[in-house]
This record gives sequence, C-alpha cells and structure tokens, in this order.
Amino acid sequence: MNAQRWLELGPEFSTRVLKNESMAKHTSWHVGGPADVFFTPRDVMDLAAFMRQLPPVVPLLWIGLGSNLLVRDGGIRGAVVSTHGALGALERLSATRIQAEAGVPCARIARQCVKWGLGPAEFFAGIPGTLGGALAMNAGAWGEETWRHVIEVDVLDRRGTRHARQAADYDIGYRKVKGPDNEWFIGARLEFKRAPGVNTDAIRELLDKRKQTQPIGEWSCGSVFTNPPGQHAARLVESAGLKGFRIGDASVSEKHANFIINHGQARAADIEALILHVRQTVAAAHRIELHTEVRIVGEPA
Ligand SMILES: Cc1cc2nc3c(=O)[nH]c(=O)nc-3n(C[C@H](O)[C@H](O)[C@H](O)COP(=O)(O)OP(=O)(O)OC[C@H]3O[C@@H](n4cnc5c(N)ncnc54)[C@H](O)[C@@H]3O)c2cc1C
Repeated sequence: MNAQRWLELGPEFSTRVLKNESMAKHTSWHVGGPADVFFTPRDVMDLAAFMRQLPPVVPLLWIGLGSNLLVRDGGIRGAVVSTHGALGALERLSATRIQAEAGVPCARIARQCVKWGLGPAEFFAGIPGTLGGALAMNAGAWGEETWRHVIEVDVLDRRGTRHARQAADYDIGYRKVKGPDNEWFIGARLEFKRAPGVNTDAIRELLDKRKQTQPIGEWSCGSVFTNPPGQHAARLVESAGLKGFRIGDASVSEKHANFIINHGQARAADIEALILHVRQTVAAAHRIELHTEVRIVGEPA
C-alpha cells in the first residue's frame, strides 16, 4: 500500500498528529529515528476514532513514557500512539480500589495512593513510566508487581472497540504479560490494602535507596536484561568484566551493570551493538543467555 495514502488521516486529527516525529524526544535513552505518524489523542473517544480510521495494514505501536524502549535510528514505519499527556484520569472507586487511565505516570499513582492511605503502591514511585507501560511489562520493584493489583483492565482493539478484561484473561509472569492479540491498554482498576500509616517518607526512602545503587538522572532505560532464573543479570555482566565497556557514546554503567547509559551522543545502533556485545560476552563467560527486558523496535538507519 502507498504509504502516503494512509498518512492522510481525517482533518479532525490534524492538531494531534505529528508527521516524521523524532522518537528521540519520546524515549528515556533519547535515541530513535522518526515515526511516520505520531498521535497524541485528546481522550479515549478520540483515540477510538483514530483506531477506526487507521487502515489495518498500518503497523501500530503504543507507547507511554518510552522508558523501556529502544527505537532504532531509522525510526518507525507506521503509527505511534502516545498515551502520556492524554489518558490521565485517576480516581478512587472504593475504600481499597482505584481506577487509572493508561497515560497516568506510575509515580503519580504512588503519591496519590499514599494520600489516600492505600498500599503497597509505593513501589510505583521508582518506575518512570505510565500505567499502560507497567501493564504491558508487568513492571515491578522491591518485590512488588503491577499485576498483583489488577482487578480488571480496559482495552481498545484495532477497530477502536472497547472491552473490559479480567486479570484472569492474561498469562502473567516476571516482566511478561500475554493477553489477546491486537489489544492495547486504556486503563485499569487496581486493588490495594488500607495502609493508614503510610506516608511520603516511605517513597523518599525507597527513592534514596535506588539513587545509591542506580545511575538515576542519566539517560537510560533502567535494567536492560531480565534476571535469568536464580541469577542477577547485573552480577553476571559485572563479573564478565563489562562495567564501563563503551561503544560510541554508550556504555555499561559503572554504578549498576544492568544499565546502559547514553552519555549524550549515542545512536540506537551503538546501544544495540553494546547489548549484543554484553550478551555474547556473558554467554562466553558464564554459559548463560541474557534476554532483553527492553523492547527493541523500528528500522535500522
Ligand atoms: C531509571 C529507570 C528505572 C527503571 N526501573 C524499573 C523498575 O524498577 N522496575 C521495572 O519494572 N521497570 C523499570 N524501568 C523500566 C520502565 O520504566 C518500565 O518498564 C515501565 O513500565 C515502562 O513504561 P512506559 O510507559 O515508559 O512504557 P514504554 O517504554 O513507552 O513502552 C514499553 C512497552 O509497553 C508497551 N506499551 C506502552 N503503553 C502501552 C499500552 N497502553 N498498551 C499496550 N502496550 C503498551 C509498548 O508498546 C512497549 O512494548 C526503569 C526505567 C528507567 C529509565
């Protein structure tokens, strides 16, 4: 199909559609080439209308804050939907239940739950993504995981039709979520416990602890690799002698070996080459295959 034809979306979307938008602006590694179409909806209805108009042949990627995403330098052929800054409603439904839209930052959920006297939601404070990304990744920290709290999710399918799905409809594991194909999260109902004693000090302590061990503030995507069963990816990378190893302007963090840092000028290709080098070196040193937690998408330059 002629790419130009599907780029011509209805005029009603023109203020929210950006063409050839650099993905480096939308990822925490600050790398990635242009997306053909980058759409930030006004709300769920606007998003559903966009999905209905998008021909089925057009590749589609939904993103949140891009904090777990390596977009290659050639960018993305197709459409990107950004929930951040759009689907931002967060409310309390009952004594222990909340509802949030997919674009709500996890840190906001953590802070608001503390205000409501609900927990344990503090772990969300250290996850610099959206609820949608946390649902897609089963993001977790400090022994907690997103899906432990999910009662029900709302999704949109490729035709823009909305469905409510139960947590039981998904196969959930460590950083793994498998549900019906071609559906994307627009929100969720989450259950916590009453925790009247919880306060913002709990969040501050967790963030302080994180700062001591992780290169917070530098351009990264958090942990690049999942932990193999019974192992720590960071320890395997460190003991293979890779701390500080550099390709272009990307290097394995000196502070936490499962982080790769963009020092400012790295290209996605440098980061991807470094990921490959780390995997090969760890496989040779330990006979263990590392798998990426980070999602790698898009076209090479
Ligand atoms: C400094 C730092 C620390 C981190 N610490 C942690 C941590 O402690 N624990 C942890 O689990 N992760 C951590 N991460 C990784 C990351 O923040 C999480 O994976 C987060 O959940 C990703 O959310 P996001 O909105 O940025 O998703 P994105 O990076 O935008 O997308 C990630 C994946 O989710 C999909 N996706 C996004 N939104 C939707 C949606 N609405 N519907 C369907 N699919 C969607 C995307 O297509 C992509 O495949 C860290 C990252 C950084 C930079």
